[in-house]
Amino acid sequence: MTARRDGKGGCPICGRPNTDERGKKLEHFPFCSARCKLVDLGKWLDGEYFVEDAGEEPPRTEGEGSDTDR
Ligand SMILES: [Zn+2]
Repeated sequence: MTARRDGKGGCPICGRPNTDERGKKLEHFPFCSARCKLVDLGKWLDGEYFVEDAGEEPPRTEGEGSDTDR
């Protein structure tokens, strides 16, 4: 299945048509319904689509086991 975020091939969430029989975009395009729109939003909030920022260093835990020499 080729679900795309641009709406081609139907709803990105469930794959159902996101246009009516005349090819007109539905109200919640590219999604088929408000429900799928919310599902997509939930995915974003859950971090499923989160892209890691390579320039950001991970948080360190200083003073914990690493500085026993001094
Ligand atoms: Zn859908």
